[in-house]
Amino acid sequence: MTLFRGTFADCPEDPFAGGVLRTLTDGALLVRDGVIVERGPWADLAARHAGEEVVDLRGGLVLPGLVDTHVHYPQVRVIGGLGLPLLDWLDQRALPEEARLADSGYARVIAREFLGSLARAGTTSALVFGAHFASAMEVFFGEAAASGLRIAAGLVVSDRVLPGPLLTSPDQAIADAVALGRRWHGVGRLRYAVTPRFSLSCSDTLLGACAEARAAIPGALFTSHVNENHDEVARVVADFGTHYVGTYDRHGLLDARSVLAHNLHPRDDELAVLAGRGATVAHCPGSNAALGSGLFPLRRHLDAGVPVALGSDVGGGVSFSLLREGLQAAFGQQLRGADGVRLGPAHLLWLATVAGARALGLPDVGTLSVGGQFDALWLAPPSGSTLDIGLRHALDETDAVAKAFALGDTGDVRGVWVGGRSVLPAA
Ligand SMILES: [Zn+2]
Repeated sequence: MTLFRGTFADCPEDPFAGGVLRTLTDGALLVRDGVIVERGPWADLAARHAGEEVVDLRGGLVLPGLVDTHVHYPQVRVIGGLGLPLLDWLDQRALPEEARLADSGYARVIAREFLGSLARAGTTSALVFGAHFASAMEVFFGEAAASGLRIAAGLVVSDRVLPGPLLTSPDQAIADAVALGRRWHGVGRLRYAVTPRFSLSCSDTLLGACAEARAAIPGALFTSHVNENHDEVARVVADFGTHYVGTYDRHGLLDARSVLAHNLHPRDDELAVLAGRGATVAHCPGSNAALGSGLFPLRRHLDAGVPVALGSDVGGGVSFSLLREGLQAAFGQQLRGADGVRLGPAHLLWLATVAGARALGLPDVGTLSVGGQFDALWLAPPSGSTLDIGLRHALDETDAVAKAFALGDTGDVRGVWVGGRSVLPAA
C-alpha cells in the first residue's frame, strides 16, 4: 500500500445543485491496488500505517485527475491556427494534417505526442476524437494502452464534403469500427467510441451505419459534434430537413453514453431531446473563442437538465490544460451578461472531473473519495512563479483552487497517477 501525503481538493457533489469543494489540508490517502481505501489527517494515517511507502506531495495541491470529454488525436500539431472561423480552419489547417495520418509511422509519432500532452496536462481520462484511417487508430489504441490513461476513442467516419482521402463508405465504416472495437474495446482502460465526424460530412445512411456498428460493440460510446457554427448548422438543417440533434437521434445514437461537442446554438426542442436521452454536451470554451463560434448557453442547458462537461477540443482549442479551459468557461459566462452562470472554483473543478467521468461512464473516477480510483494530479508550480506565490498566499483551500484555475497550466503539473500508478512521461 502507498500513503500519498499532501493537500487534497475535490468536488464530489454537484455544485449546480448546492455541492461545495471538499479539501483536506496536510492529509493522506491510503491507496491499495489503485483504489483509495482510507483518507484522513496525515498524523492519524501515518500513525496507523507506519512502514507503508510514502509519496510526499506537500507544496501545491493534489486534485482528481482531469477528464477531457472532447479532444482530437490528429490535431496536436495544428494548435494555434488563430483568426479563422470553423469551416476555413478545417479546410486550411485541420483536414490537411488529418490526411497525413494515412501514414502509420507518422500516426505513431502523433499518437505519442498527443498522449504525452494529455498526461502532462494532468488529464487522466479522455474521450478522444480519432483519425479517419483504421491503421492510424490501430496504432493509437496500442499507444494508448501503453500510456496507462483511460481512453475512449474510435475511427472517425465521413462519406461526403471532406477531401477524398478522408472518406469511407457505410459498409466499410461498419466493418472497420467492428474490427477495431472487437480488438480494443474493454482491453485494459480502453473503450471504443463510434465517431461520425459531424452530420455536415455524413450521409443519413452513414449515420445509420454508425448505429449498426455501435450495436455490434456492446458498451461502446458515441461521440460527434453539434451546433458549433451558424453556417454549419444551416447546411445540416437544409441537408437533413430536421434539427441538428435530430440527425443523430433518429438513428438512436443518443443516450447516457453519448457526448456531443459544442452545442452553442441549440433550439429548445433539441435541448429537450438531449435531456431526455441523458446525453452530455462537451463544452469547449477555448475552441469556441478561438474559432469565434459563440458563447455557450450554459444556463439553458442547466435549465433543460442537459449534462455538461468540459473538453479542450485541441486543436480548435489551444491548450490541453483543462485548468485553462475552466478559466475560459468562467470568462465566457461572465461575457454572456444577464443569462451567464457565475462559475466559481467548485463549478470549474466539477466540470473538469466528476461531470466528465459521468459522461464517460466512469463511476469510480473524478473524486478523491474512499472506494474510488487514485487518479490524480499534483499541481506544484515552479518556485517563484505567479501560481506558486498565489498558492502560498491563498486565503484558504477554496481560494487555492480558484488560483489553480486562474494561473495553472501544464507546466505546473509535477505528478500524474492513474489507478495509483504514475503516468507522467519522462521529461
Ligand atoms: Zn472537435
